[in-house]
Amino acid sequence: MKHPRIGIPRGLLFYSYADLWMSFFRDLGCEVIASPETNAEILKEGLRHTVSDLCLPVKTFLGHVAVLKEDVDLLFIPRHVSMEQESYMCPKMIGLPDVTRACFAHLPQVLDPLFHVKQFGDKAADEFTRPIAKALSLSPVRTAESFRKLMSESFGGTAERYRQACSVLSEDTAVPPASKKICIGIIGRPYLLFDRYLSKNLFSFVRKLGANPVSLRPAETEIREAMTIIPKWVYWDMGKEVVASAHVFFKDDRIDGVINVCSAACGPDSFTGDLIRKRLNQRNKPYMTLSIDEHASDAGIQTRVEAFIDMIAKVTA
Ligand code: SF4
Repeated sequence: MKHPRIGIPRGLLFYSYADLWMSFFRDLGCEVIASPETNAEILKEGLRHTVSDLCLPVKTFLGHVAVLKEDVDLLFIPRHVSMEQESYMCPKMIGLPDVTRACFAHLPQVLDPLFHVKQFGDKAADEFTRPIAKALSLSPVRTAESFRKLMSESFGGTAERYRQACSVLSEDTAVPPASKKICIGIIGRPYLLFDRYLSKNLFSFVRKLGANPVSLRPAETEIREAMTIIPKWVYWDMGKEVVASAHVFFKDDRIDGVINVCSAACGPDSFTGDLIRKRLNQRNKPYMTLSIDEHASDAGIQTRVEAFIDMIAKVTA
């Protein structure tokens, strides 16, 4: 295959690593095809191909596979087990290539390289790229080099998504106090927050209500500080970022309330949600959980957000 078409489903870790993955495959001479943004049809396809007790992001991911699979030579569904020494990905993410294979009778070749820092340490990138090089008949050394180089450059991808989605807090604080907008800290996993269809366009809706939505990717020091407050280190990747974001927002006087966007049927979120509510909100700041599944309607979510912001407006008036 001279320029194989690589399909990348626009779901789950796509929202964290899309820039890296797409640049990497283009660098290897592939044509990269990502599925379109989530819409009703994609979600319907996901639901049609799956079992009911999976979480919404995985069901949606399968919908992206369904719309991509006929148009590509290979499907890229990496198996991310650990991104660092201290945490694991959620089991549904680890088993994603297997779940996908089990849900579809016919698929193009699935490229499912393993990324496992806890097992391979510094060699994780080499292990990850080896099966990719083999599938594309490329030099393993050159493939690993290309990936490592891009990895060192492109981890700003998620941070950029946060920046685009939110008003910047420091800009808002430059506004005179009399016209100060209500600031809502929004926390959650990138694949829920930045998938506009799944999050019901939450950032825009909060803005439409006249409030300032704020989100962040916590720094390593903020994660470590948050972990000292709770009884046990959160060992799910992304779960600890959500917990740390909540901690930063609860202690920041510029934030008036916090919304936690999570998925129904998510084991890690039910655990971290409890920690956030019981252990971190020591100042009793207004806090709301938006648990989203395929039955959540735009109107239902928007009514709750509107009531939450109204309540904060009354308290802070
Ligand atoms: S962390 Fe939760 S939402 Fe994400 S894949 Fe796992 S179960 Fe689904």
